Amino acid sequence: MKDFIIRKNSGLTYLTIPSFTKQGVVHGFSTRLVEGCQVSSYALDTGSDGKEEFKAIKNRRLFVGALNLEGDFWALKQVHGRRVFSVGEKVYSKGEEQMEGDGLVTNQGGVILTMYSADCAIIFLFDPVQRAAALGHAGWRGTLKGIGPELVKAMTSSYGCRPENIMAGISPAIGACCYEIGEEVIEKLYQVMKEPEMFIKLGRSGKYMLDLKLLNAKLLKEAGIQEEKVAVSSHCTFCNPDLFFSYRRDGGFAGRMMSLICLP
Ligand SMILES: [Zn+2]
Repeated sequence: MKDFIIRKNSGLTYLTIPSFTKQGVVHGFSTRLVEGCQVSSYALDTGSDGKEEFKAIKNRRLFVGALNLEGDFWALKQVHGRRVFSVGEKVYSKGEEQMEGDGLVTNQGGVILTMYSADCAIIFLFDPVQRAAALGHAGWRGTLKGIGPELVKAMTSSYGCRPENIMAGISPAIGACCYEIGEEVIEKLYQVMKEPEMFIKLGRSGKYMLDLKLLNAKLLKEAGIQEEKVAVSSHCTFCNPDLFFSYRRDGGFAGRMMSLICLP
């Protein structure tokens, strides 16, 4: 399967999707690395979560700048749901995150969409034909509520996109190597998916592990996106503390990585 690649600019390290770059779509998934800065809990933490609000906003602006963009950007109060907003104008969130939702779509050049995560997957979508882009936040709850298919639906209904033209990327997230799940998740998985066993692996500890990225890839495929157009990051956020924050690993004080997409 196609993977993300690691890039560096302006002292920051981030991941990108080669097929998106080829199309001129500005995008990226941040890591915690800042050149010349020790990897500490505060290295490029872009999540406010009630702590160090000022630092989070400054770090968000740093990442926007590292992608050679500037100015206002969209951010939502992410709530593990499936609500998607179609946005058509430049609005600065001030990091205040007022609107609740987990998906953003646009067809306007220069409009910057952002999402934040610390184990959840972020879905990147781009349609080179209708020139539309989307970002979605997909933890297990949002994934099983259908955030991926909702993003595709928003692109088709708002901008006339056809699913078969859409390219997709699924970001670094907690992998099946580390994502232990309990009854609640398994029950929901069996309610929603036709072949739930595909996404559950038996871990060394005898616990069940969820393959969140594979689950999202499958749901995008069911929404009509062609398998060969989906890039899936091989990085596990839990396994790579030098690169990523992880909610499961770091607990309630985990920082957040930032995802961004912007049409030229
Ligand atoms: Zn792992």
